Parts: sequence; structure tokens; C-alpha cells
Amino acid sequence: MAQLATVGGLAAVSRLYRTKPWGYGDQPEFINAAALLDTALGPRELLNALQQIETRLGRRPTHRWGPRVIDLDILYYADVRINEPDLIIPHPRLLERRFALVPLADIDPRYRDAAARLGYSAQSGECTALMFDESDQLIGRVRRLVAAFEETDLVRLRVSEEGDDAIELRRAPRGTNLAGPPDAERAIAPGQAREPAALEVIKANLVGIVHLNKPVPVPGARLEDDRELAYVEALGIRNPVNSRGSGRLVAVLVSDGEAVEYGQPLFEIERV
Ligand code: ATP
Ligand code: CA
Ligand code: CA
Repeated sequence: MAQLATVGGLAAVSRLYRTKPWGYGDQPEFINAAALLDTALGPRELLNALQQIETRLGRRPTHRWGPRVIDLDILYYADVRINEPDLIIPHPRLLERRFALVPLADIDPRYRDAAARLGYSAQSGECTALMFDESDQLIGRVRRLVAAFEETDLVRLRVSEEGDDAIELRRAPRGTNLAGPPDAERAIAPGQAREPAALEVIKANLVGIVHLNKPVPVPGARLEDDRELAYVEALGIRNPVNSRGSGRLVAVLVSDGEAVEYGQPLFEIERV
């Protein structure tokens, strides 16, 4: 993006998407994105400039559709149509490529229907929005996290880097019948961030099979006092797992009948 900004004004930049390789499958996943560039260069000059950037960033010739450091294609150029051997605009394969259309739809609403026609659904997980723009300010990263979160049914989304603060968004799963919407059901909008409440993780203190108590604890549930949430069955003995006081159950990290390890997180409780 920094290189593109030397060629024109970056009017819009999509989120970054991690996608499965297309055309030639035996290679790592790709990262795809689309940018809207406001440039004085004509289409051919622009292609030249893009190819120079590719070389500068270390692209070396390989086979078509194979792994490459960077690939910059012109998807369209205003409403210009060009059909020459080495330059075709709009890009001839645009409408069959979800990995191109989905990022493009982020920045150009005219392509949203086309992206939807290819069966794009944010829930399918096939296009995963990524967050790793190093130059970005924290708030920009949180904004994009929120946007990605709002489009999906994700319940928890956590981004962390070594030696860096983690960013975590969470909400109760849709369909859980809660008395009143808990705070965590809404994604935290930028600017609304508040002091995080103390979060306690209840871990398994034995190796065994976990059994959730009835009624089954669900995220969002209020715990009035110390309550038995589950028990771990080990060597035929029932070992209760208690909430250790009151609070709000934020996450149930295991399912009934699951084998758990010693120290495996079972529940997260917000102490209110
Ligand atoms: P695809 O075009 O299917 O995405 P690719 O990007 O992997 O394939 P490259 O090897 O990067 O293919 O480019 C091959 C040639 O495609 C380039 O040398 C360029 O001349 C030509 N080309 C034609 N139309 C375009 C366009 N709209 N944008 C970029 N390159 C184009
Ligand atoms: Ca390409
Ligand atoms: Ca290309």
C-alpha cells in the first residue's frame, strides 16, 4: 500500500483476506486485498508502474499462478476497456474470482452483488479478514476487527502478538436466550471501550471427562453465588468444578462429555 501511494492517491483500501490458492493448489494460502487508486497515470503507464513495484518488492518470474511475493493486477480503470495481448481491462477473470471480488466489494459497493453471486458469505470462513497492518494505529485495527466481527457469527475474536497487548471481542452466541442483552453481545464500538472487568478462567484440575451440570451453563448466565458448573469424572470419581463466587459467565470452553487435560480452560467468568 505504501508503494501504491507513490503512484497515486490511495482513495480506499479493503481489508486483507486470507484465501486458498486458485488455479494451482499446491502452494501456501494467499493474502488478497483491493485498493482504489486515484492516479494521473494512463492504464499502460500504470501497469508498468505496478510491475516495477512488484520487482522492487522482490517478485521474480515463476510459473503462472504460482507462489509470488506480490501480484498487482488492474481490476478496472474507470470505465476504460482495453483488449490487447499484454493488457486487458477490466481484468478478464475478475468476475469468476471470489478472492478478487470480495475485497473489491469492500471498497466498491457496485461489486457486492457479484461477490454475493459467487456464494460469498462472511460466515463461510473461506475468506478470513486479517489484521496485520503494522503501520496502523491501534484504533484502526480495532475498527476493522469490529467490522469483521459484526459480519460473522463469531463469538470470540482475539488478536495478539508476542509482547503486545491482545485485543479481544466477544459476544454471546446468537440464539442463546438471555435475560436482557449483556454488554458483550454487542461488539465494542471504537471510542466506547471501557475498563475490562476482571476475567477469571476456571481450569480443569484433573485429567478426565467433563460433564456440564443441568441446567447447562450458557454464556451470559448470571451466577448469583458459588455454583457447581460442571464436574470432571476421573477414575470414577466426581470432582466438582465450581464458579468460585458470583459473576457473569462469559464463555463455556468445553462441551459435555469432552476429555479434558489438566489445566485446560473450562469457563471464563467476569467478576461483576
Ligand atoms: P492473472 O492475470 O490470471 O491474475 P497473474 O496475475 O498471475 O494471472 P502475471 O504473470 O502476474 O499473471 O501477469 C501476466 C501478464 O498479464 C502481465 O505481464 C501483464 O502484461 C498481463 N496483464 C493483462 N491484463 C492485465 C491487468 N488487467 N492487470 C495486470 N496485468 C495484466
Ligand atoms: Ca493476478
Ligand atoms: Ca499479475
